[in-house]
Amino acid sequence: MPAQPATATPKVSQDFASISPSAFTSTAAECPFAAASHGEVHIVRRYPGYKKIRYYSHDNIGYGHIDLPDQEMHTTAVWWQAEPMALEQALPAREHAIEGFLGAAYALHHVAALRAMAEVRDLGRAVGDSQGSWSAVLGSDGRGQLRGPSNEPLEQPPGDRFEPTLFLYDNFPGGVGLSAPLFDDAAVLVQDALGLVRGCACRAGCPACVGPILAGDENRTLTPKQAALSVLVLLNGGVA
Ligand SMILES: [Zn+2]
Repeated sequence: MPAQPATATPKVSQDFASISPSAFTSTAAECPFAAASHGEVHIVRRYPGYKKIRYYSHDNIGYGHIDLPDQEMHTTAVWWQAEPMALEQALPAREHAIEGFLGAAYALHHVAALRAMAEVRDLGRAVGDSQGSWSAVLGSDGRGQLRGPSNEPLEQPPGDRFEPTLFLYDNFPGGVGLSAPLFDDAAVLVQDALGLVRGCACRAGCPACVGPILAGDENRTLTPKQAALSVLVLLNGGVA
């Protein structure tokens, strides 16, 4: 058996410091529970560190911090928001709502790439506030973490307004026309994502539906899969 090289591949982890709609936006006819919109967005990406992974086995053998300037991009996106009252009724705890949005974003991202006949990396996804005042990332504990505009951790979204927004954006500067057809198919995409998550054989969530979960999530009362399903049902106009 060949000896495994001791060197490792640096892999940069990525954080979204902020995403905020700018310039034109168009919003689809709002149903009582959710709205889909399309428009231009400004994205700020920050790479806070890197992870070292061993060749072949993908063992995690360390990480380090890096200090790079933010990368900014102007592009187009389609985004979904749930009606705040309906969201609070479906998922009263904000951490569950954020987790639901992150899981729903994972499923929608993959069905959207398929429908657009694009690579998954041709589209980007982000969950955050519609005004860019916070964004949510998946932390190392598998839970959604809130970050402020300067990437500082937040305990709670600032202010009283809590309007998590799920963005799928064209991952090329200026956009190459991927987001407009996704907006036209916004309702179909949500149904596709619902079908994907509901039809998955896993119990609590997995990389084939809402993204990887931790072993401890299997025994939770509200699983990441259920949280994501609740959000997708809202985005589907409350139709399960
Ligand atoms: Zn699954």
